[in-house]
Amino acid sequence: MLTQYHIEILLNALGHHFSPRALSAITYANIHQDRLLGLFWHDEFHFDNNAFAKSYAYIEDQRALTISSLQKDDAPSAWAAFGRFLHTAQDFYAHSNYITLWLSRFDDSSQNKAERRDGQTLPAPSEVDAVDPSLLNHPDLCSGKVYYPFELLYFWPPTKNFSLQWLPPDSHAWMNLDSPEQGFKFDYAMQAATKRTVIEFEKTTVGFSEAVCQLFLDK
Ligand SMILES: [Zn+2]
Repeated sequence: MLTQYHIEILLNALGHHFSPRALSAITYANIHQDRLLGLFWHDEFHFDNNAFAKSYAYIEDQRALTISSLQKDDAPSAWAAFGRFLHTAQDFYAHSNYITLWLSRFDDSSQNKAERRDGQTLPAPSEVDAVDPSLLNHPDLCSGKVYYPFELLYFWPPTKNFSLQWLPPDSHAWMNLDSPEQGFKFDYAMQAATKRTVIEFEKTTVGFSEAVCQLFLDK
């Protein structure tokens, strides 16, 4: 997802939980995952290239680091680790076909037909289920493959359309829901990523003592 949408998701999902200082540290670490060195050779940061197992392992490693940092009274390290793995969890909805699979339950032809939404055949984006077990384990679940060098041309506006002519349908360029430019499914990806962020927050903080909670939320 583009930086501004990661920020929007964090604000909507966590803004009322954390102090401004904590939220800004979480946000910085989150969007820093999309730095140039974080984009290359780090499929696990973004659920790219079908790196599902590596991405799930990365989330759990960073969650463990969040908790162990709090045990050492190191809130800044906890916020950074938390922000990093939330980026991965949010990118899942932008880089995999989870949203397409969820929508296909309601309308087999929903693949490219935004107008179906106006025809009220599809539920509203706010109704999306972010963690449907049958979809998380669906045999057709996949994420966009990054085909170099053409994928690089996709990120530069003057060569974007040129690159799309050469990239296959299973590429990141064709599959991503990184911005509203990708069509109506982006709204579902945003809603799902926001719900998932709340779920990850609850999963991480379950069992925290009042003192650890105070340290983490900085309140
Ligand atoms: Zn990313």
